[in-house]
Amino acid sequence: MTLFQKIIDREIPAKIVYEDDDVLAFLDISQQTPGHTLVIPKKATASVLTAPEETIAVVNIQAAKIAKSLIDALGASGANLLSNAGEVAGQTVFHYHVHIIPRYEEDELKLDIKEHSSTIDEVYETIKEVF
Ligand code: AMP
Repeated sequence: MTLFQKIIDREIPAKIVYEDDDVLAFLDISQQTPGHTLVIPKKATASVLTAPEETIAVVNIQAAKIAKSLIDALGASGANLLSNAGEVAGQTVFHYHVHIIPRYEEDELKLDIKEHSSTIDEVYETIKEVF
């Protein structure tokens, strides 16, 4: 059982900001910026890559609404909404979740990605027939 299932089951405490039949939203313990919130489905699935479409829909619809309310309540200027899928992408809790990270002028939060050697043409050649 994941940590987030324990939060759903009220076995461990969390600062819950929104709940309905399908999703739960609570403040991320790390607070990358003030108001950093996680939105999770009540029906467990490992990540966005394993989630049924209905789950992805409901989580993202609520995440967008919660993001707007957080921005208004906290005086933020925007937000990053993102979901890490897989350990290599930084996922540490394997229960699908969307991070809402409110952004403030000059908060200096950075996503650092190292350079790589693939060109855009090479990437396009590989994926263009996939979809
Ligand atoms: P990820 O790295 O995308 O899997 O995100 C997992 C997030 O869960 C991290 O940002 C953690 O700070 C957060 N987290 C871990 N434990 C707790 C907890 N007990 N309550 C709230 N957030 C948590």
